[in-house]
Amino acid sequence: MKVRFAPSPTGLLHVGNARIAIANWCLARRHGGHFLLRLDDTDTERSKPEYAQAIEEDLRWLGLDWDGMVRQTDRLARYAAAAEVLKKSGRLYPCLETEEELAFKREQRQKQGRPPIYDRAALKMTKEQLDRALANGKSPHWRFKLSHTSVEWQDGVLGRRSVKLPSLSDPVLIRADGSFLYTFTSVVDDLEMGITDVIRGEDHVTNTGIQLDIFTALGGKGDAMRFAHLPLLTDSDGGPLSKRTGAVGLRQLRRDGIEPAALVGYLAALGTSGDPVAAMPAELAPGYELSRVSHSSARFDLKQMLALNRKHLHGLPFAAVQALLPEGAGEDFWLAVRGNVDLFRETRDWWDVVAGTIVPLADAADHDLLRAAIETLPEEPWDEATWPAWTGALAASTGRKGRTLYLPLRRALTGEDHGPDLKVFLPLIGRERALKRLTLAAG
Ligand code: GLU
Repeated sequence: MKVRFAPSPTGLLHVGNARIAIANWCLARRHGGHFLLRLDDTDTERSKPEYAQAIEEDLRWLGLDWDGMVRQTDRLARYAAAAEVLKKSGRLYPCLETEEELAFKREQRQKQGRPPIYDRAALKMTKEQLDRALANGKSPHWRFKLSHTSVEWQDGVLGRRSVKLPSLSDPVLIRADGSFLYTFTSVVDDLEMGITDVIRGEDHVTNTGIQLDIFTALGGKGDAMRFAHLPLLTDSDGGPLSKRTGAVGLRQLRRDGIEPAALVGYLAALGTSGDPVAAMPAELAPGYELSRVSHSSARFDLKQMLALNRKHLHGLPFAAVQALLPEGAGEDFWLAVRGNVDLFRETRDWWDVVAGTIVPLADAADHDLLRAAIETLPEEPWDEATWPAWTGALAASTGRKGRTLYLPLRRALTGEDHGPDLKVFLPLIGRERALKRLTLAAG
């Protein structure tokens, strides 16, 4: 098995790209195959080295690595050679229509109730007409002459699929400026690199029909490659996932502090009937199967992904986060706080509550309680028995219990209404700080 993930470095990766990358990687790893990173960068105007670098970084963050990397701009000579083959066999033909002419033709056809496909007028051009145009400084773009057939394949996700080539325009493979289009370069690469499985988004289904036709014209065997198209992701309302919102870009999610395992586990389970489990690709690969992915589009719900992130953090052992915790924070802190954070970076705020400065909160109605609390504040050493003993004694002396007892103490000691178990937090805060906070709060 040899697969490729082929992003165009014309922008940053989003969750839809990540899902495709994960699928390719997991299948390659599961079957002992080869995973290639291919940068589809022939659109030199829109491709940027910064994006290429960001793509690599984002893939690594997801826990993906690659066995080889290819840049299409390094292979221009190969595409030129392949184009010659198609020109010789008459499958690639020069066209001189301008954008305006083409738009006009499309409009005419539509008015006549005919599908707006290219009429192949350029095929009727004589050699003399072409030579004259070239001599006048015109440069042609080149179209691939599609076969008059339907192309069929057994899709790894969508089942039996076919594309009727006669209902499509002959695709432009080379622009007038000589640059190659992805539709073509991708086929040359897949063929020459011996790609066995093309796994990509459903938006490429029509391309598959066209590309299989080009593949065959270049001497490839129609059944040499398997195809699988993952249905597109939608947002939580069922609308298209928009790159513009930025909320679904990997960079953004990473900056927001999402754990890669949560994102990977969530994406891998999307569109399947399985419950998402946070896991890195290496853990998912052994059981990864495309046949579990359903035919219909899947919703990417940021809230569900956050819930998984939270669940994941909740179960993380101290050893997994030790190096990332603030200086001085130990296992007791982590175990107390991990169930109270949506994002890992919130642990920093909780560490401030323990060891930094907070603004204690208190209502005047609670000043009496807080004064009593100061008077009965036990001497150190403190441990997890301190809080229950102290609050037990306060309950007995003040007659307060439950929320009316615990909430004012929590607000005074942490400046928050909710938070980790004070049984663990109180000893971490320590007597000196606790006393200072209670005194401030008691007015
Ligand atoms: N560069 C194409 C894209 O990003 C690659 C599609 C493919 O996998 O062939 O959509």
